[in-house]
Amino acid sequence: MNALLKTDPDVAQAIQKEVRRQGAQLEMIASENFVSEAVLQAMGTVLTNKYAEGYPGKRYYGGCEFADVIEDLARDRVKQLFGCGHANVQPHSGAQANMSVLVACLKPGDTIMGMDLSHGGHLSHGHPLNFSGLYFKIVPYGVRKEDERIDMEALRKKALETKPRLIICGASAYPRTIDFAALKAIADEAGALLMADIAHIAGLVATGLHPSPVPHADFVTTTTHKTLRGPRGGLAMCKAELAKDLDRAMFPGIQGGPLMHVIAAKAVAFKEALQPEFKAYQQRVVANASVLSKTLADEGFRIVSGGTDNHLILIDVFSRGLTGKVAEKTLEHAGITVNKNTIPFDPNPPMTASGVRVGTPALTTRGMGTSEMEEIGRLIGKALKGADNETTIAEVRRSVETLCARFPLYASLLTPTPA
Ligand SMILES: *Cc1c(COP(=O)(O)O)cnc(C)c1O
Repeated sequence: MNALLKTDPDVAQAIQKEVRRQGAQLEMIASENFVSEAVLQAMGTVLTNKYAEGYPGKRYYGGCEFADVIEDLARDRVKQLFGCGHANVQPHSGAQANMSVLVACLKPGDTIMGMDLSHGGHLSHGHPLNFSGLYFKIVPYGVRKEDERIDMEALRKKALETKPRLIICGASAYPRTIDFAALKAIADEAGALLMADIAHIAGLVATGLHPSPVPHADFVTTTTHKTLRGPRGGLAMCKAELAKDLDRAMFPGIQGGPLMHVIAAKAVAFKEALQPEFKAYQQRVVANASVLSKTLADEGFRIVSGGTDNHLILIDVFSRGLTGKVAEKTLEHAGITVNKNTIPFDPNPPMTASGVRVGTPALTTRGMGTSEMEEIGRLIGKALKGADNETTIAEVRRSVETLCARFPLYASLLTPTPA
C-alpha cells in the first residue's frame, strides 16, 4: 500500500477509512460479506493487465498461458462445487450473468416470467427500467398475501396462459426455500426453459443447506460476492449441451475482455468454498438468521412470512409505525448497516418502503454467533423503538462499538491512523 499512499494519498486515505468503517459497524446488508485476505490478494495482482478475450485454449490474444491455468481452475472448481455440466466464470456481475442467459436463449420481444421486484425479485428479472424489461415481454409472478410465499398455483396458471420462453426464479429478498423441482415441472408443462438465479443463496446451495437447482434448471446464475464470499462478480452455469450458447452470449455477446484478476480471486474463493469449514460457516449463517428472526419477533416486529429458512430476514417496520427509509437511517446512526426494502403488497412506494432487509453472512464471517444475534436483535429493537431519541441511539451506538471491538476485522490491513 506504500506506493498507493505516495501516488494518491486521497484515495489511500479513503480506502483506509473504509477498512475502519467495515470493522466498526455491524454489516447486516444481506447481500454483503467479507472476503478472505487470500481473495483480496489475488484481486490486487498484475492479472489486471492481461487481455484474455475468448476462453482457455481459444483466446484472441497471445500470452494467455497463465490466464488459461487460472480460468480452468475456476471453472473446474465450480463444477466440483455445484455439480454442473458447464461453468462460465467471466460475468463481471450477477446482472451480466443474467443478461448472458437471456441473450443465449431468447430473441428480443420474447416473453419471460420473473418474480416481481416488490415481492423479492431482482431488477434483472424483468423490471421495466432494466434491459430484461426493456427488450422482453414480462409476465411477473409473486407471493400469496396470506403467507407471503411464492404462489406456485398462480404461477403455473400464468405460465400455461402466457407460454413464456423462459421462467426466471430466484430472489433478492425472499426468506424462504425455493422449490426448484416444482418450478422445473411447471416450466416443462408450459414449454419454457428455466433459469435459477441463486445470487443470494449460492453459499447455502453449494453446501447442501438449500436444495440445488442444478439438476433441474437449464441455466443457473449467481453472484460470487454474497453468501459465496468471493470477489464482486458473477457466474453462469448450464447443462453441457447449452455450453456453446452460453459462452457465445457472454463473449462476444455482451462482454469484452474478462477481468482475469477477479477470476483468479473467484478461483481462490471457490477453493475456500470446497473446504469443510465453509459448510460449517454456512450452517452458522442459517442458525444466526433463525435466532435473529426470533429475537426481532420477540421485540414486537412482524417478520415477513413469519420467519426465515435462509440467511435473510425481512422486517415489517411499518407494523411498528416506521417506514423502511426512516428505519434504515436510524440504524445507520446507531452503527448498524441495513437496507430499506419493500415488503409484499407494500402500501409505501419503493423509495420509502415498509420493510428493512437484514442478513447474517457478513457478521457470521466475523465470528459472531447466536448469542451476539440475540444481543443485536435487542439493539435493533431498542434503536427502532427509540428512533426519535438521540440518547437511545447514542447508547445503541456505544454497544455496537463494544461488540465490534470484540470481533476484529482485517486487522493486518489497518495502518496507524495518519496524524
Ligand atoms: C444481487 C443480485 C443480482 C445482481 O448482482 P450484481 O452483481 O449486483 O449485478 C442478481 N440477481 C439477484 C437475485 C441478486 O440478488
